[in-house]
Amino acid sequence: MDKGNKFYITTPIYYVNARPHIGHAYTTIVCDAVARRKRMLGYDTYFLTGTDEHGQKIERSATTAGTTPQKFADSVAAEFRALFEKMGISYNDFIRTTEPRHKQGAQELWKRLQEKGFIYKGTYTGQYCVHDEAYIDGAKPGDPCPDCGRITETVSEENYYFKLSAFADKLLKHYQQNPDFIRPETRRNEVIAFVKSGLRDLSVSRSTFKWGIPVPGDPKHVMYVWLDALSNYCTAVGLGSKDKEEQQKFDRYWPADVHMIGKEIIRFHAVYWPAFLMAAELPLPRAVIAHGWLLFEESKMSKSRGNIVRAESVIDVMGNDTLRYFLLREIAFGQDGSFSFDAVVQRYNSDLANDLGNLSSRTLTMINRYFGGSVPYPSPLVAKRDADDTIRDQAQRTIAEFNQLFDEYQFNRALESAWTLVASVNKYLVEQEPWIVSEKEGEENKARLATILYTAAEALRVVTALAYPVLPESAAKIWLQLGLGDITKFDLRELKWGQLPLGGKLGKVEPVFPRADKSTIERMQQMEQERKPAAAAQTSTATAPVPAGEGARPGQPATQAAHGPTEAAPAAKAAAPAAAAAPDGKISIDDFLKVEMRVGLVKHAEKVKGADKLLRLEVDIGSEVRQVVAGIAVAYEPEKLIGRKVVIVANLAPRKLRGLESNGMIVAASAGEDGKPVLASFLEDVPIGAKLK
Ligand SMILES: [Zn+2]
Repeated sequence: MDKGNKFYITTPIYYVNARPHIGHAYTTIVCDAVARRKRMLGYDTYFLTGTDEHGQKIERSATTAGTTPQKFADSVAAEFRALFEKMGISYNDFIRTTEPRHKQGAQELWKRLQEKGFIYKGTYTGQYCVHDEAYIDGAKPGDPCPDCGRITETVSEENYYFKLSAFADKLLKHYQQNPDFIRPETRRNEVIAFVKSGLRDLSVSRSTFKWGIPVPGDPKHVMYVWLDALSNYCTAVGLGSKDKEEQQKFDRYWPADVHMIGKEIIRFHAVYWPAFLMAAELPLPRAVIAHGWLLFEESKMSKSRGNIVRAESVIDVMGNDTLRYFLLREIAFGQDGSFSFDAVVQRYNSDLANDLGNLSSRTLTMINRYFGGSVPYPSPLVAKRDADDTIRDQAQRTIAEFNQLFDEYQFNRALESAWTLVASVNKYLVEQEPWIVSEKEGEENKARLATILYTAAEALRVVTALAYPVLPESAAKIWLQLGLGDITKFDLRELKWGQLPLGGKLGKVEPVFPRADKSTIERMQQMEQERKPAAAAQTSTATAPVPAGEGARPGQPATQAAHGPTEAAPAAKAAAPAAAAAPDGKISIDDFLKVEMRVGLVKHAEKVKGADKLLRLEVDIGSEVRQVVAGIAVAYEPEKLIGRKVVIVANLAPRKLRGLESNGMIVAASAGEDGKPVLASFLEDVPIGAKLK
């Protein structure tokens, strides 16, 4: 079958342990822009997104929230869908890994791997990171996970293994023969180095929890979440279906043309996934493309930092197109990029309100005023100037340049190129002064005026067609104002200079990008703040606390882990140490600064005789070693605490517990209904004695 005309693009499926935020929006917007452009270029485009809903974390989160894993997943998946609807995302399919079509397809993939002899049974004991759902090679009991810093758990289980080790050479050969398989180059090099360092067989089943897809023929085991999740790219287009139409769909669309992902999951997509597919004798995706992280004012947005921005705060105030344009224009795709409300407003005002907005409104307004709303006929002989040809030539170059850059996923440079044309046309208008020409008498001046406005309008049309995938709502409006009808019907392959119908009637001309004033930033910040307490209220019942090890950082109050995902912690509440918080009472910064919190290292830990809940700790806080008695024995074994960094309130008056003097308090979140303590800790290394403020 000829597949030349199809284009299949996927986002990663989003894990329902986190609520949707701007990072999810970013990946999805990139895919949406690419998909819209491909449709406009005549491709039979299939755009897939969805949610990843299995795994121990979800099971635990649901238990903590007092609900079932399915209901838990249903509610978060619904939030993702609602956000994508609101953002106008043009996906063709939204897959959930708890759907029957997916389970059946994932099991089909498993059976193929097993039939081909790539799955076997073995026993494994090792350190496991629950957060990342991954075993940590070479870790010892009590060691933190190198990826996320959380303390690993010792797990021993009889598992099924996938013979990943058999694929190292084949993978390397594939990378070599397909230089565009992994992009950008830095990620490709990283993956090649990883594979060259040697691949070990991969444990692909779990028997320590139930929330997953049962292993065919051995339902005591569930499939490893990544094997489950990755297979969505095939199951969504019909792998494993008995239905004829679904099978045809699979033949039509598989392999995917692009898996778009964040750089942190490159290994799963560029090593494990192609190895699974090779083993199952299925074709490999054409490209895995990794984007960088969104930084919020220079630091990584993450749950543990509590600085995650929600897409809604931008789109409710400034519209979908503003967020799309900002993310694609501001960030060099593939690299990390910085997000701030300030920068969004600046970018909007300069590029959209000023540059494109001005070009559009003054050109169309003048055509209305001087030519009764009909596109004027440019007079090539009588009234032509070199400046007109310069714009025409630049527009033609821009079309070629934009197409090339966009297809290389250099969105920022593609947009830059289009906006260079916008700037040139604005300058052209200033220099040609159509408003002055309009005041002069005579046919020649009339012809000159027509030529200027035709040139500007035609350049506007070119830019609008190019920008549509990034600015679908505004481009559609400008297109209508140009009198050109439905922009989605336009065939982008045809785009060239000189297609604006002469004498064509303009639509109703209205400003598309009103200027944003200073209050815009405040409104976005306010929405962000308003959403936080609301989210906190929800998450206390709907989302689990972060696993042990996720905690505060300097400058971030340590107690916020108590409120589940830390993005949800309201500032006022978080500012008070657990023991001192008055219900809903806000305190001043001065009150907070009275509390001296320091980083300490546990030198010694033991149970307190006759007290089930208490541990006696000796904690080095830099200046001295303190004895602290802490009620954390239900959650922590003393030997596992030795060598661990904790946060202690260092200026509490000493008190006696079971006859032992306690000099300070260990900061811990109280998680779940039974108030299980979870120690505050850091993702980065912090020196002993460091003060929290
Ligand atoms: Zn981890």
